[in-house]
Amino acid sequence: MSRGSAARPVSPAPRLPSRLATLRAEPGWRRIDLISDLHLSPDMPATLARLRAHLSATPADAIFLLGDIFEAWIGDDARWQAGTFEQFALELLRGVSARKPLFFMHGNRDFALGEPMAEDAGMRLLPDPARLEAFGRGWLLSHGDQLCLGDVGYLRARAAVRRPGVLAALRAMPLFARRALARHLRAKSRMHQSDPSTWADVDDDAARAWLRDAGCDTLIHGHTHRPALHDLGDGLARAVLSDWDYDHGPGRGDVLVMDARGLHRIAPMHAAAPDPHAGGGSP
Ligand code: MN
Repeated sequence: MSRGSAARPVSPAPRLPSRLATLRAEPGWRRIDLISDLHLSPDMPATLARLRAHLSATPADAIFLLGDIFEAWIGDDARWQAGTFEQFALELLRGVSARKPLFFMHGNRDFALGEPMAEDAGMRLLPDPARLEAFGRGWLLSHGDQLCLGDVGYLRARAAVRRPGVLAALRAMPLFARRALARHLRAKSRMHQSDPSTWADVDDDAARAWLRDAGCDTLIHGHTHRPALHDLGDGLARAVLSDWDYDHGPGRGDVLVMDARGLHRIAPMHAAAPDPHAGGGSP
């Protein structure tokens, strides 16, 4: 498989964990929604509203959030601060998990979201990658960043930032300082917005190796913001989730729906319209 310029350095492919987390769909599940890369922040109210609308309208039996749902997660303690974005996120997720199973996998942006927040929100944290058995097939779920082997600098930074000492140091900062830091990083990243088509992509050889080792036929991931379904040969495939943005431009985002027929992509649903025949009726 070509990786573009042969001279470009690439990181070694990560090995599939020897004890791969495996999740079995419940027999009654008829539809699963998979979503990633909303990059939610206090600056993205329309995107947050669209997620809320979809989650309240979808008939899915389970929801999988596959990373970078949040642009940054400044710490689980932020959820107690009244009137904040984090408290709103907690209420939203709690409302969903009260009705159906909700799973959360970390992305590279929201990896600091911890067990206390997950537990409070009623969602189950999934390791990356994780295997899902559903509708008679094995699916491999990942955020995807670990497989972008051409992104050497990023992968090095990824390992550094996830050292326990770094997280502990961040958590020791006062909340107002973490909020200010997140604001600063958001402003900086807006200034240096690069074109996603120039980003490193998931390495197809590494994806195939993971799929074979996991005994799965399809890898589902986000991170690259390049929604597609790639045929990897030998019955293997790679399904890529889209990012969401309803705050700038015409709005984009999609949901990958898994059911007995396979995978298909839909636009996020709008909140269900009130039934005109319900209640008191109209004159
Ligand atoms: Mn990402």
